[in-house]
This record gives sequence, structure tokens and C-alpha cells, in this order.
Amino acid sequence: MEKRYDVAVIGGGPGGYTAALYCARAGLSVAVAEKLTAGGQAAATDRVDNYPGFDQGIEGLELGERMQRGAERFGAETVYDEVTAADLTGDPKRLTLSGGGVLLARAVVLATGALPRPLGLPGEEELRARGVSYCATCDGMFYKGKTVAVCGGGNSAVEEALFLSRLCAKVTLIHRRDSLRAAPVCADELRRAGVDILWSTRIAGLLGDGRLTGLALERTDTGARSELPCDGLFVAIGRVPDTGLFRDQVALDPEGYVAADETTRTSLPGVFAVGDVRAKPLRQVVTAAADGAVASHFAQEYLRSL
Ligand code: NAP
Repeated sequence: MEKRYDVAVIGGGPGGYTAALYCARAGLSVAVAEKLTAGGQAAATDRVDNYPGFDQGIEGLELGERMQRGAERFGAETVYDEVTAADLTGDPKRLTLSGGGVLLARAVVLATGALPRPLGLPGEEELRARGVSYCATCDGMFYKGKTVAVCGGGNSAVEEALFLSRLCAKVTLIHRRDSLRAAPVCADELRRAGVDILWSTRIAGLLGDGRLTGLALERTDTGARSELPCDGLFVAIGRVPDTGLFRDQVALDPEGYVAADETTRTSLPGVFAVGDVRAKPLRQVVTAAADGAVASHFAQEYLRSL
């Protein structure tokens, strides 16, 4: 079944729902295609403390749901389905859904965000959800009282390790260098929470047949090898933009993010990019939301020009 809209948004994170809110409030018909839950990556965040207006912070999931309800109040529709193909060059643009439906729209907002970067180790894909996870707030409960490791040295790894320290019997942070990418003060916070830190260490291999049982480790300074038995590994080594649907159609920057300036306009007329999938210096909920408002402004300008 085909349904027509003025604007279709791919991805229901803060950027996507802000674009939907502004477009719907301007009287446009809007569909937001979301394959999972509203809120995007923020929904997997235990607590968002740096989105203004919530003086006590807010749970990421609740923030996402509120953004969704805010857009739906003005008539935006959420289509819970995965976009499996996108033809962004024609008019109307055509989004094919996994359930067999098709969304036709004269303007499209790309708000697909980013995906966790994998370690790229043999067996990683098979052990996903069998001991290897990329989201502590999503999967942490499965490891209650157990022994886990977190890989990475940025803010995400620190947050994951702190979150898990409240649930697990033992948490070890494994970082390839001898200082964190996150603020140095985070190391004290981790120690206070009882998290062990293995500095200058890389994960050389995943142990276990069908279920993770431990990690093969290698010191990056001395090359010394060891093994760490554990029930779970949380990988938090950054993210990669989720552009699989349209990377052959819109211009990307050298890192693979959608090349779109502050207007959010991409190389294709009528196609806008917002949030973490767009090339930008700071990826936060507040910058994604700002992108959404800007995209709506230029989408309306584009639709008036047709
Ligand atoms: P990030 O800041 O890019 O840190 C990635 C970490 O993973 C780095 O420590 C990096 O090591 C390590 N790493 C990368 N590739 C690796 C590999 N192949 N093997 C082992 N280690 C590897 O990523 P992030 O922590 O996901 O954060 C992304 C952005 O979101 C950042 O700007 C961050 O500040 C922001 N963020 C903010 C908050 C907050 O404000 N509360 C929370 C979460 C994230 P090196 O240090 O050696 O490069």
C-alpha cells in the first residue's frame, strides 16, 4: 500500500521528531518511519542531563517518547516499520518498508543516526547478544551479579562502566591507551565505583563457543598476553553513521557522514540530513534537535519552490 506525505522522516530520534514537529506544526503532512522505539540513541541512555529544560535530568527513553508525542500532537504520524529501500532522486521520493508498504514524499529528512562501532574481531557477530553487547542500559540487566568488561576510553565507555557497576559483581574497563579520552576526572569516578581499569590493553580475541566466556588480551606497550574470564563484554568504542540506505545517492564526507552544512541540505534537492548522521562538530541531543528545526525551515522553502 502506498501513502503520500509532504515530508517523510527516516528515523525517530531527537532530530527526526523535531523536524516532524516543526513540519507538522507548519501544516505539512508528515510520516516518521521508526523501526524500534522513539528517541534514537538517546533512548538507550540512562539519564540525559544536558538537554536544557529538564533541571533534574530526564531518562532518555522518556525524552524520546515526549518528543514523539509533541510531534504527533500536531498530526505527525509514526510508522513503526523499517525502511528497506529509498529512492531519493525522483519526485515524489519513495521509501519502501519491510512490511510491504511504501511512503511517497516530496521531501525527505534523513535522521538515521549512528550505529555502535564493532571491534571487528572474529566471532564478534556470532557472540552478539550471547555475551557481547553494545548497550549497557539495554542489556545490563542480563548481567546482574555477573562479571563484565567494557571496552573503550570515551564518555560512552565511562557511562557504561558506571551504569554496570551498580548491577554487576565485577566491572573491568579495558582501554588501549594509558589515559582516557573522556575527562581525566572520570578515572577517579570509576575507581570510586569499584571499576578496575586495564590501561594500554587491547582485546585480541573473544573466547567461548556459542557464548562468551572470556577475553584474550594484549598489552599495547609490552605485547604481554593474558586472558580475562568474564560473562559479558560491552563494546563502547564510538559509532559509525547509519547511511546504508542512501550512501550511493547523497554525498558523504570522508568519514562517511552525510555532507550537509548548517542548512541540513544534502547534495540531493529535497533531501535533508539531521542529527548524528550529518557531518558536524558536536553530536548531542540538543544539536540533533536544532538540526530538525532547521531542516523543517528549508524543507518548507523547498516545497514552496516546487
Ligand atoms: P569516542 O569519544 O570517540 O571514544 C571512543 C573510544 O574508543 C576512545 O577511547 C578510543 O580510543 C576507543 N576506540 C576506538 N576504536 C577502538 C578500537 N578499534 N579498539 C579499541 N578502542 C577503540 O566515542 P564515544 O565515547 O562513543 O563518544 C562519542 C561522542 O559522544 C563524544 O563526543 C562524546 O563526548 C559524546 N558523549 C557524550 C556524553 C555526555 O555528554 N554525557 C556521553 C556519551 C558520549 P582512543 O582514546 O585511543 O582513541
